[in-house]
Amino acid sequence: MLVIEQLPVLSDNYVYLVHEPDAGLTAVVDPAVTEPVLAALERHGWRLTHILNTHHHHDHVGGNLELKAATGCTIVGPRADRERIPGIEVELGDGDLFRFGSSTALVYDVPGHTRGHIAYHFAGDHALFCGDTLFALGCGRMFEGTPPQMWRSLERLRELPDDTLVYCAHEYTQSNGRFALSVEPGNTALQARMREVDARRRDGLPTVPSTIGEERATNPFLRPDSAELQQSLDVVSQPLHEIFGATRARKDTFR
Ligand code: ZN
Ligand code: FE
Repeated sequence: MLVIEQLPVLSDNYVYLVHEPDAGLTAVVDPAVTEPVLAALERHGWRLTHILNTHHHHDHVGGNLELKAATGCTIVGPRADRERIPGIEVELGDGDLFRFGSSTALVYDVPGHTRGHIAYHFAGDHALFCGDTLFALGCGRMFEGTPPQMWRSLERLRELPDDTLVYCAHEYTQSNGRFALSVEPGNTALQARMREVDARRRDGLPTVPSTIGEERATNPFLRPDSAELQQSLDVVSQPLHEIFGATRARKDTFR
């Protein structure tokens, strides 16, 4: 089984160390920065063997080249965005398997936030690394995609098992939740989750990872089929990707 350590860095990023003890492998997912990663490796006595990138944004690849220089690790990332991933050596795309000692990740192309975004699903470890595609109670902005594309990406992640842990790349849950409540005020699972989120943030605790089951029940971007959400946005019975698009557009101007 993988050992996963969550490192809060910058203002709201999460970087993950993923350690496979049998083979002695350690990956870092989306290293925004270098020093906190090296310090955490040192603390554990782990040697960095891989960088796993989800997409090209600087707050996800900023540590790539320095970590490579310091450790000689292998840089893995999206084939569709190879020219924008610093130092990429192993290119992955939809349906590819990434073998990591005794664990394996299935790779999903999840375009929308960026056109080359991928997600890594370690099914045996119930772990999904989804970068800036799916957030706790939210989703990434569509910088390089269309609503049908981004909806298809989220729809595929929504189909993963309920107990899948969602290791997203930012702590945005509390502000996402305020928006979620504005479009689904009657969702009792969402109300309960937000009480818990508020309590955790008050105590300085992370609200990530969540699970796919929680997201399916409370994340408005996975809930275009919700009657209450459709009524809030005045998109009753529209195609799901259009309801998703209307939800995303409303969030973009919400404050
Ligand atoms: Zn991003
Ligand atoms: Fe980001």
